[in-house]
Amino acid sequence: MSTPPPGSFARPWRGIPGLLAAVAVALVLSRMAPDQGYILNIFMQAATYGIAVVGLVVVLGYCGQISIAQAAFFGLGAYGVALGTVDYDLNFFVALAIGVAIAGALGLLLGAASLKLGGHYLAMVTISFQQILTVVLTNWIGFSHGPDGVRNVPRPMLFGLSLDGGRDYLGLCLVTMVCVAVAVWRLRTTRLGRAMQAVRDNDLAASTCGIDVLHTKVAAFGLSAVVGALGGGLFAGGFRYISPDQFSFAESIVMLTMALLGGVSSPFGALIGTGLLVILPEWLRFLHQVYLAVYGAAVILIMVFLPDGLWGFVAERMRRRARPVLAEVANLPLLARTGEETAEIVLGVTGLAKHFGGLKALDGVDIAVRRGTVHALIGPNGSGKSTFINVVTGLYRPTAGRIDFAGRDITGLPPHLRNRAGLARTFQNIRVFRGMTVLENVMVGAERVGNDVAEDADGIVRRALAALDFVGMRADAHRMVGTLSYGHQRYVEIARALAGTPEMLLLDEPAAGLNMTEKQALGQLLRRLKGHGLTILVIDHDMNLVEQVADHITVLNFGRRIADGGPRDVLDHPDVIAAYLGEPRSEAA
Ligand code: ADP
Ligand code: MG
Repeated sequence: MSTPPPGSFARPWRGIPGLLAAVAVALVLSRMAPDQGYILNIFMQAATYGIAVVGLVVVLGYCGQISIAQAAFFGLGAYGVALGTVDYDLNFFVALAIGVAIAGALGLLLGAASLKLGGHYLAMVTISFQQILTVVLTNWIGFSHGPDGVRNVPRPMLFGLSLDGGRDYLGLCLVTMVCVAVAVWRLRTTRLGRAMQAVRDNDLAASTCGIDVLHTKVAAFGLSAVVGALGGGLFAGGFRYISPDQFSFAESIVMLTMALLGGVSSPFGALIGTGLLVILPEWLRFLHQVYLAVYGAAVILIMVFLPDGLWGFVAERMRRRARPVLAEVANLPLLARTGEETAEIVLGVTGLAKHFGGLKALDGVDIAVRRGTVHALIGPNGSGKSTFINVVTGLYRPTAGRIDFAGRDITGLPPHLRNRAGLARTFQNIRVFRGMTVLENVMVGAERVGNDVAEDADGIVRRALAALDFVGMRADAHRMVGTLSYGHQRYVEIARALAGTPEMLLLDEPAAGLNMTEKQALGQLLRRLKGHGLTILVIDHDMNLVEQVADHITVLNFGRRIADGGPRDVLDHPDVIAAYLGEPRSEAA
């Protein structure tokens, strides 16, 4: 039997019948809606808001970037349609496209701001953006009609059919909503979607997996803005009248609440949240004065008890029932190489220095790693070992020195380009993508640009499964990585690095935090890797293991290289014994 599809992403066309069915349901629903203006308005509001809130799923749910400006993008779409059709006599869809394009461009700009800013600061920037738009729409009366707003926004013709009737227009809104929701749902399992989630869960690790963090964030903001504006444009046609107060900060908060309430990690959650917050107040009206209090309390209760939103609660239960992938997979291709040790230097580091203020964490270190060897980097705690790996992989800028990798000067490259050049690593403090499954984590590694793997989803999945197989974790492929033990998370990290078929693997204390059994298993894994000829730089404190696997050892102390050479020479070196081992090995044994 061939590999069972590990998820719907393996075959994109499989989603088409589902999409058609959903569109049909949307159309039927719009026909069944009671033909009363008031009720149609509520549905129209739910559908158009739903579109915008689905946009929030991209930026906040997938990419983890807080945006409190979705109403501003919604407003840009709405004003695009309103001003375009009323003042400039444009076709509805042309005006919509212009609004969406402007919103998309501003979204990209806002995304670029996320380069330097994260968390609260980014949130503040999005709030400012939102406020600026409100001020402009209110005060630029000559262009925007000011606080009076724009009246008599027309509804469009589509394929010669007038969508002027309430139900017809609702049909357009619902079908758009369904298509957007399905597209965003599919996005999650694409390369870009995985990159977004990786950035959300751990942007440092994402960058060392070859993901361009800035591009990914910018794409998320841009997409989210485009979707938000699409919803807004349809909103303008739905209500035929818009004014600046409909796109204020308060509305951005409402949209954020909708997303969080339903579950921001999925478009279905977003739609559930939107539906509830639009319809709940209408249902609760019979409570007269106290309805707002009841409504507020309901929202608070749901958020407190279901932190992942309503959909998050359901999704977690569905995931627990997922079955492991059991069919045969191919071997990791890197393991087929005959790892001949050569004289070629893969990683050549000269005069590398890294100072933190007055502290010289690295102070003029030279290291040459030959292809096909296992090179151990040892030294006491705080001697600069992790700093060395961080500088080599581009997370820190060196104070001085030069790094050559595979015949190329990489000293100035950002982390993702170093990964694409063939450097993969693990972290002393595990950095896995906790919001993703084991398989998805490793797929991110397999998607390394430059990996010799079929670029289609099937090829990536196979490579990821092969890497998981190699570390003995394939049966856990569908588990959320956060539910694994510490030792198993380490294996996932190693598999993620291996899946990219790197030229060289840097392992920063892979045995840290493991118990005795796990350490032994890891030792075996290292020996297997060595047997297959991958070039490895490993930091480890277990001298028995180092002696068994290392072809070459470099010892650091206070950021300086104090010994370098074959295991026997180095471990018997008096300076090394004094600085690190404490006593000669024969006595230690
Ligand atoms: P090792 O991995 O060998 O235990 P590290 O490379 O982590 O040591 O640290 C070397 C020295 O650099 C330590 O004194 C540590 O406190 C310091 N250091 C490491 N990273 C930073 C940083 N980001 N900022 C300031 N000091 C740092
Ligand atoms: Mg360290």
